Amino acid sequence: MTGTLIPPAELLLDGAFAPGGGGSFPTLNPATGEVLAHVAAADAADVDTAVTAAAGAMRGEWAAVLPSTKGVLLTRLADLVERDLDELARLEAREMGAPLGVAAGLFVPNLVATLRHYAGWADKITGEVLPTDGYFGAATLSYTRREPLGVVAAIVPWNAPLMILGWKLAPALACGNAVIVKPAEDASLAVLHLARLVGEAGFPPGTVQVLPGPGAVVGEALVRHPGVAKVSFTGSTEVGRRILRHSATHLTRTTLELGGKSPQIVFGDADVAAAVGGVAAGLFTNQGQVCAAGTRVLVHRSVLDDVLGGLAEAARAQVLGDPLDPATTMGPLVSAVQRDRVLGYVDAGRAEGAGLVVGGDAPSGPGFFVPPTVFTGGNDLRIAREEIFGPVGTVIAFDDDAEAVALANDSDYGLAATVWTRDIGRAHTVAAQLQAGAVAVNGWSPLAPQLPWGGVKASGLGRELGREGILAHTESKTVTVVL
Ligand code: NAD
Repeated sequence: MTGTLIPPAELLLDGAFAPGGGGSFPTLNPATGEVLAHVAAADAADVDTAVTAAAGAMRGEWAAVLPSTKGVLLTRLADLVERDLDELARLEAREMGAPLGVAAGLFVPNLVATLRHYAGWADKITGEVLPTDGYFGAATLSYTRREPLGVVAAIVPWNAPLMILGWKLAPALACGNAVIVKPAEDASLAVLHLARLVGEAGFPPGTVQVLPGPGAVVGEALVRHPGVAKVSFTGSTEVGRRILRHSATHLTRTTLELGGKSPQIVFGDADVAAAVGGVAAGLFTNQGQVCAAGTRVLVHRSVLDDVLGGLAEAARAQVLGDPLDPATTMGPLVSAVQRDRVLGYVDAGRAEGAGLVVGGDAPSGPGFFVPPTVFTGGNDLRIAREEIFGPVGTVIAFDDDAEAVALANDSDYGLAATVWTRDIGRAHTVAAQLQAGAVAVNGWSPLAPQLPWGGVKASGLGRELGREGILAHTESKTVTVVL
């Protein structure tokens, strides 16, 4: 086990670890295919218990915690995550295959930064005083209050479980909500370790609960529960649509962070070496299991050969192996299902006549590995239209700016986009024209807790992080006093 400590994989219910009513399920080490641990599964009755406990915390001990003390608790949790950074990163590497360098250098530090960012918000959540023309001749004082929503269900995927959970947990707690976390089936262990730290930090029982288990049982029960005020979901567009249909029943507030098919546009005036490095990061980081993966690489014809050569070199330089080995730059995909799905897209690319530049064939041996793969082709190929969620990209040539923007926007998705150019006017003009929740210029997908995150079109609904994260976890109440 190379020193990784597997925590007791029970659910956190009303302040205590418990076995859960749904039996248990195995979680695998994707580098070997072996069982890593058995995780207790919640059932619908556990969801009921959790919602009651969360509502109790909202009425009782948690409601009485002062705003600045909420900030202290979040800071304490950030410090504990930092203390256990190595262990948390190893758990993520073990259970979902992220190279240790990515988990320890990006995912867990991002969680720490998000907790600290929202610790600062906790006593600064303000409304506004609003001038009016008065009330039948009397003066008025009108103001808004931003109040917590109540019980928030945070449903997270497996590809960066701690980082993505932080985007939901930290603002929800800063605003005074209680949170029930539903981790993904393939990645519950690191989240359950975080659950222990929540208790150690001193959050009152019921403030944060963690219910592992199948999405179709636990996720579905949370989403349909009348006691849940908000669903904050990150995952596939298909499940997001299903959740939104359920949300209509109780008008449950809903934020959806969904899939993507993001363009990376390399203009003829770009610093090609820098662009190739950034594009490769956008394709291969975390084995391409990144919502913002830049899988449609749009390249001006004048630099096409240089970019293709650079990407082939970058792909060949990737080191596939055990995520815990420091030399590894690409771990396995999360599961056999995901590997087979991604290899199915590689076959589809070949069958549709895309040109294979590099990669394609899965290595033999244990583990769910897929090599970095680059095709050339058109924007109408399945590999250019559907989210693959693996290290597979398609390079598409263009001749002018208008064509680049048209190709970029010709997608069902609209999560992120990257622009590589030295022309500042072109950078701003194109950024304004792109249909995406976030545009990065000369760098792939910079993330920071201050920056709102979310998508347009089939990539989602609403925003997380920054001030938008506060607005998304509070309800505005207008108070008018006739003086
Ligand atoms: P998924 O939709 O299969 O599962 C996500 C979560 O939803 C899991 O916890 C799962 O158990 C749960 N779930 C499944 N069915 C459910 C149901 N009927 N009701 C309620 N919950 C249910 O997605 P995944 O395979 O875990 O993650 C990959 C997807 O997530 C990709 O599409 C990726 O683009 C997306 N993603 C988006 C972002 C973003 O910020 N936009 C970030 C990371 C991942």
